[in-house]
Amino acid sequence: RFVSLEGGEGAGKTTVLNALREALREGGDEVVATREPGGTPLAERIRALLLDPAHESPCANAELLLMFAARAQHVHETIRPALDRGGWVLCDRFTDSSFAYQGGGRGIDADWIAELERRVVGLRPGLTLLLDLDVARGRERTRGRDLVPDRIESERDEFFERVRAAYRARATADPARIRVIDAARPAGVVAAEAVRLLREWRD
Ligand code: C5P
Ligand code: MG
Repeated sequence: RFVSLEGGEGAGKTTVLNALREALREGGDEVVATREPGGTPLAERIRALLLDPAHESPCANAELLLMFAARAQHVHETIRPALDRGGWVLCDRFTDSSFAYQGGGRGIDADWIAELERRVVGLRPGLTLLLDLDVARGRERTRGRDLVPDRIESERDEFFERVRAAYRARATADPARIRVIDAARPAGVVAAEAVRLLREWRD
């Protein structure tokens, strides 16, 4: 009952998340919609540290460990308890984001990320929907949004190409869990396909 949404900037995760939440609530179950980095008071403070343009940006390992610190707390305080109550958890980003951004994007060894996943996370979504969008289109959609500060620079397209490639490689390696959705289509179409995939997986 744990579902995550992944994708690059501007892929439309928020719209899809809202549609999935409505679809699941029709069944009368508890649905906890949450996000990363964030999802608890401490983890939201870590998010604010990471995204605040007034801060110098952390080195790659510091960023990785802050993401996992936030994730550890998120699992402990929000995700595990909701799953234990029999609820659904819908998460806007989870560990796949670290493989894509800190791994693919910032070049951290995937084995080290996998080790952190094993030791401090200990669970994976049953279903992950990857909203796949080309980088140029994502850039158009997020113009003027609050991105991690040092990525508004000129190398951002190359960075996001690596993020996208890492996401796609993970989907190819684990097709039973990660379903790829073409996010270049209109929001309503993308959301409808996400709801269909979720229902298919659930039933
Ligand atoms: O999903 P959302 O756009 O709210 O993510 C906020 C920011 O955090 C994005 O700029 C995303 O690129 C960044 N991020 C990251 N590494 C993660 C998760 C998010 O760099 N593991
Ligand atoms: Mg969003």
